[in-house]
Amino acid sequence: MPPRTVVIVGGGLTGLSAARALEQQRIPYTLIEVQRQPGGSLQTVRQAGFVMDGAGLLSDASLRESPLLADAGLAEALTAAPGGVLFRHGTDTLVAALLARLTGPRLMRMAVSSTGELENGRFALCLENGLLLDARALILALPARYAARLFYGYRSAITEHLLPWQYEIITRFSCGYTGPVTVPADSLPAEVAWLHHLPPGERTPPGGTLLQIALRAAPDEAAARLPEVLRALDLPPPAVTARHVWPEADLIFPPDHMARVAALHALLPPGMVLAGSDYAAPPPRPGVAHLAQRLADGVAAARQVQAFLAAR
Ligand SMILES: Cc1cc2nc3c(=O)[nH]c(=O)nc-3n(C[C@H](O)[C@H](O)[C@H](O)COP(=O)(O)OP(=O)(O)OC[C@H]3O[C@@H](n4cnc5c(N)ncnc54)[C@H](O)[C@@H]3O)c2cc1C
Repeated sequence: MPPRTVVIVGGGLTGLSAARALEQQRIPYTLIEVQRQPGGSLQTVRQAGFVMDGAGLLSDASLRESPLLADAGLAEALTAAPGGVLFRHGTDTLVAALLARLTGPRLMRMAVSSTGELENGRFALCLENGLLLDARALILALPARYAARLFYGYRSAITEHLLPWQYEIITRFSCGYTGPVTVPADSLPAEVAWLHHLPPGERTPPGGTLLQIALRAAPDEAAARLPEVLRALDLPPPAVTARHVWPEADLIFPPDHMARVAALHALLPPGMVLAGSDYAAPPPRPGVAHLAQRLADGVAAARQVQAFLAAR
C-alpha cells in the first residue's frame, strides 16, 4: 500500500465536504466508507412520484449561503418550505453533486475498526477486513457512537469521553397522499417528535401531499403504531409509506454539550480531527437539519489538517 497523506473515515455529508475542500487545496486523500454508497444518513427514496428523505428533508435556510453549495452548482436547487428549505429533487442531489467533484480514491464497503500511531509518527488504521493503512493526518467524520470504539486501546480516554453521548430512538416515516390533506397544527400525540407538512405538489406527483412523521420509537414498534397515530390525526392511510431506518438515533444534547466537545478536541492528537453533527451545536429545531453546518464542519476539518501538514 502506498503511503497516504490524509485518510477521511466516513462518507456522510461531513466527510464528503472535507474531501471536496482537500481536493480544492490539492491535498491527496483517501475516503473510506463502510456502506455501498456514500451519503451517510442522507438517503433519498423515490416511489410512485414521491421523493422522500429520512434525514435532512428540511434544512436551516443558512444552507443557501454555503460556499460549497454554489461550488456544487446547486445555488438554484433549494426551495422554501415551512420551517426551512428543501432540495426540490431530493437531498441526495447534494450528495451526488459533491461526489461528482471528487477524484480521490474511495474505499467502499470497508469499515475502520481501530486507529493507532506508528513509531514514525504516522497514524495507523486497521480495517475490519484486516487491511492496515497509514496516513499523515486523519479526519474521522463519524457520529460519536461509531467513533468511540476506534480509540479503544489507542487513546481510551477518548473512548470513555464519547461513551456517555446518548441518543433518542426516533423513526421517521414519509407518508405520500395523492391529494391534499389537513393536519391539526397544535395537537400532536405525545409520541410524535415532529411532523413536517410540505406545500402541495412539493416532492409529489401533481396535486399530491407529502408528510414526514417522526415517532419516538424503534422502527418495528413505530411501524406498528403509525396507523393509530394517523387515525389520531384524522389522516387517511397514505398511498405510499416509506420508513427511514437509518441511523435511527438522534443525539440528545445536554446543556454542557459544547463544553464536552471542547474537552474532546483537547484529547485528540495533533493531525487527527473528529467532525460531524455529534460535535456541533444542536440543530435549530427538532427534525430540521443544519446541513450548512455539516458542509462547514468538513471544510474546517480540511483546513485544520492543511495547517497541520504545512507545519511539519
Ligand atoms: C437520526 C438522525 C439524527 C440527526 N441529527 C442531526 C443533528 O443532531 N444535527 C443536524 O444538524 N443534523 C442531524 N441530522 C441530519 C443530517 O443527516 C446530518 O446533519 C448529516 O447528514 C450528518 O452527516 P455526517 O457526515 O456528520 O454523519 P453521517 O451521515 O452519519 O455519516 C457518517 C458516515 O460514516 C460511515 N461510517 C460509520 N462508521 C464507520 C467506520 N467504522 N468505517 C467507515 N465508515 C464508517 C457511515 O456509514 C456514514 O456514511 C440527523 C439525521 C438523522 C437521520
